[in-house]
Amino acid sequence: MAKKISPMDVYKLLPRLNCGRCGISTCLGFAAKLVERAARLEECTPLFEEERYRDNLSQLREVLRPPVLEVAFGPPGREVRVGGKLVLHRHELRYMNPTVLAVDVWDDIEGDLESRVKLVDSLSYTYIGRELKLNALALRCRSGDPSRFQDLAEKVSKLTDLPIILCSLDPEALEAALLKVGDRRPLIYAATEDNWRDLSELAKMYGCPIVVSSPGNLSKLRGLVKVLNDEGVDRLVLDPGTYVGEGLAYTVNSFTLLRWLACRQGDRLSGYPLLAIPAVVWADEGFRGKPEEASWMEATVTAMMIARYADIAIIHGVEVWQLLPNLILRENLYTDPVKPVSVEPGLREFGSPDDRSPLLVTTNFALTYFTVSSDIESAKLNCYLLVVDTEGLSVESSVAGRKLTAEKIAEAMKEYRVAEKVSHRKVVIPGLAARLKGELEDLTGWEVLVGPRDSSDIPSFLAKYWRI
Ligand code: SF4
Repeated sequence: MAKKISPMDVYKLLPRLNCGRCGISTCLGFAAKLVERAARLEECTPLFEEERYRDNLSQLREVLRPPVLEVAFGPPGREVRVGGKLVLHRHELRYMNPTVLAVDVWDDIEGDLESRVKLVDSLSYTYIGRELKLNALALRCRSGDPSRFQDLAEKVSKLTDLPIILCSLDPEALEAALLKVGDRRPLIYAATEDNWRDLSELAKMYGCPIVVSSPGNLSKLRGLVKVLNDEGVDRLVLDPGTYVGEGLAYTVNSFTLLRWLACRQGDRLSGYPLLAIPAVVWADEGFRGKPEEASWMEATVTAMMIARYADIAIIHGVEVWQLLPNLILRENLYTDPVKPVSVEPGLREFGSPDDRSPLLVTTNFALTYFTVSSDIESAKLNCYLLVVDTEGLSVESSVAGRKLTAEKIAEAMKEYRVAEKVSHRKVVIPGLAARLKGELEDLTGWEVLVGPRDSSDIPSFLAKYWRI
């Protein structure tokens, strides 16, 4: 079993100066944060500055090593981190480092390389206040010609500073590309049983992590990891193979087995980030000449692999309908299950409200807030929205759990001085909080209207009942 660490194990190895330079007043508090992965070791600067802590630092790195090693690639300032997973199931703590979605480009591309790169770089979608984006480019040497691959690497590096994965089994082609983009610390794909010696040299020379690939053979994959570790190469990503059709079950099983071995059995050879290649769908005989079916299947395989432990997924299709569901799936899987996604409480203004405008109430659960605000915005309403701190719970849950009470609404009305904004004394509470009406009227002396249960009905509700 992977060993559980306690804050005490970590505390014993910290400098124990209680100097507060990490932003926390005590070393024990910092140790607890390290165990929860809410702080990074680098924040304890004395540990790195003073020679006398050198042994402790290496012991701490060992103690805090997650079952799945964290690997970073990409240029400084835009690097991505993959792996670093601590648990097999999300509810045990939370998943770290969301799956990196990398879109492929290739060196014999016939279309417009620049548009494809720009599309990947600029794609952005705001979902419950968070910006969802693609993360990397996978450069494929399809021509077999090192100089063409080098050209591609150079062109891409001039178009974007997105992190890069260099994909070729030919060390010569990889080295040619590394000459141009080696300083951007790309991820190198892939070391196999045939080329591992050359690739380990490249990895050491350029300080880049490498992918170890052994599709369909997990024992060989672990064997290659052992050989590379013995060579002093430890920044690895594993490619156990991605198959579609009848091979899909094998793919899901092999990813699951590797993650289980790492998290439950403490198997170091399996404890690396995993790379899936849903883009293989496009090379499958069954999908040749059927772009819509291939897009659909690729999106489905990507979703499965995001849910089943892929830390990186290389994809080909860039249709928005394919990408958005997976960006949202990833976002939802990688949120902290014990901390609902919330927004700041306060009084928000929509449109150009005046002292006669409606005053509405909602909770600070992000999904609730953004649903309500988007319904208000699309109806172009002029109004105030009082966002009450319910610790990120939705209306129904917060009423049931007494996180949204008449007292809390009354306090928020006072705190955010709503009486100075409006001349009327009317407030609209959500339909799902109807039971708070009487008590809120008693506490505030305001007239309380019970609004609709669904925020999409707010415009028609106000049209019918808002009279000043
Ligand atoms: S910076 Fe290090 S020594 Fe100082 S309080 Fe934080 S953990 Fe302790």
